[in-house]
Amino acid sequence: MGRVYNFSAGPAVLPEEVLQAAANDMLDYKGCGMSVMEMSHRSKMFEEIITEAEQDLRDLMGIPDNYRVLFLQGGGSMQFAQVPLNLMKTGVADYIVSGSWSKKAWKEAKKFGDARCIASSEDKTFSYIPDVDALEIDDDADYVYICENETIYGTKYHKLPDTKGKPLVADVSSCFLSEPVNVEDYGVIFGGVQKNVGPAGVAIVIIREDLIPEEELPNVPTMLQYKTQADAKSLYNTPPCWGIYICGLVFKWLKANGGLEGAKRRNVEKAQLLYDYLDQSKLFKATAAKEDRSLMNIPFVTGDKDLDAKFVAEAKAAGLENIKGHRSVGGMRASIYNAMPKAGVEALVEFMKKFEAENA
Ligand SMILES: *Cc1c(COP(=O)(O)O)cnc(C)c1O
Repeated sequence: MGRVYNFSAGPAVLPEEVLQAAANDMLDYKGCGMSVMEMSHRSKMFEEIITEAEQDLRDLMGIPDNYRVLFLQGGGSMQFAQVPLNLMKTGVADYIVSGSWSKKAWKEAKKFGDARCIASSEDKTFSYIPDVDALEIDDDADYVYICENETIYGTKYHKLPDTKGKPLVADVSSCFLSEPVNVEDYGVIFGGVQKNVGPAGVAIVIIREDLIPEEELPNVPTMLQYKTQADAKSLYNTPPCWGIYICGLVFKWLKANGGLEGAKRRNVEKAQLLYDYLDQSKLFKATAAKEDRSLMNIPFVTGDKDLDAKFVAEAKAAGLENIKGHRSVGGMRASIYNAMPKAGVEALVEFMKKFEAENA
C-alpha cells in the first residue's frame, strides 16, 4: 500500500520519519516493555518525554525563560474561552477579525466581557488581512487578538499589529513552526497541533509569565486556569501523553532539518511552486490577496462549481487527497504544511497543468 499526498487542512500530513519512529517504538518504548500510550503520566519515562519535548520546542522557537509552555487539551477552540477567562481583567479586549477562526474566537470572548472587533476583512469574504497600521486600540483593552494564519481563507499576517504595548494574543494553529518567530512580540501564542505539529488532542500555549493570573480565579473552572496548568507543569491531570510524545518527535525532526529557518526555506519554495503556476494559469485563480498569502493553506478556484468538483474527484483518483476547499468557501485548498514533501506540490502542479490542458 502506498501513501497518498494528503493536502488536508487538519488533521494533516505528518513527517514519514516521525510515523516510522513511532511505529518502531509502538510495542516497546525504549526497552520499558510498553508503549507510550500505556505508561503512567507520572512515570519517569513520561516525565522525560514531556521535559524533552518542551526543551526542544524552546530551542526551536527561542522561547525566553519568562515564557511558560503548556501542553493542554481542548484543541485550539478551547483557547477561544481560556484566553478571555484568564486575561480579561478590565473586561475589555480588542479582536481583529480576519476569517472564520478569529470570528469564532471573538464571539466566544463576548460571553466573558466586552470583546470589540477593531478591524475586519469580512467585507471581501476574508480574502485579505486588515490594515494593521490603522488600528484604534482601546486604552483599557487587556489584549489584542489575532489569528495569524487563517486556515480557511489562506491569509497570513506578514507584519504583526503594533498593539501599543498591549499583549498580543495569536492563534497560530495553522502556521505553528512554519517559520522563525520572535516570541517576545507576543503575550500568548497558542495552537491546536493537528495542523502542523502533531496528532489531534494537544493544544500548545506559550504564555508570558506575567499574564498568568497570580491568584486562583474564583469563578473560572480549575482546569481552565492557566495558573493550574502552569503550576503543575501541564500535569495537573492526565495530559494527552501520546500526542505530546509525537509532538516531541516532530520537534526533533525539525531540529535535524535546519530548525525553523530550514522549515521556512522549504515552505517558501513549495508555496512559490504553486503560486507561480496559479498566477499564470488561465483556468485556476488563487483567492487570497497577493500581499497576504499564506505559505501553508492555498485556496484556489476555477470559477465553475462543476469544474471544481471534477477537479477534486480526478485529483483524488490521482492520489492527491483532501484538496476540496472548506465548505464555507468551496473551490479547492491545498494545505502544504511542514511535512508535505516538495514532490507532493510538484505532483499537484503537474496534475493541474494536465487538467488545465484537458479542460481549457
Ligand atoms: C483548526 C483551527 C482551529 C480549531 O482547532 P481545534 O483544535 O479543532 O479546536 C483554531 N484556529 C485555527 C487557525 C485553526 O486552523
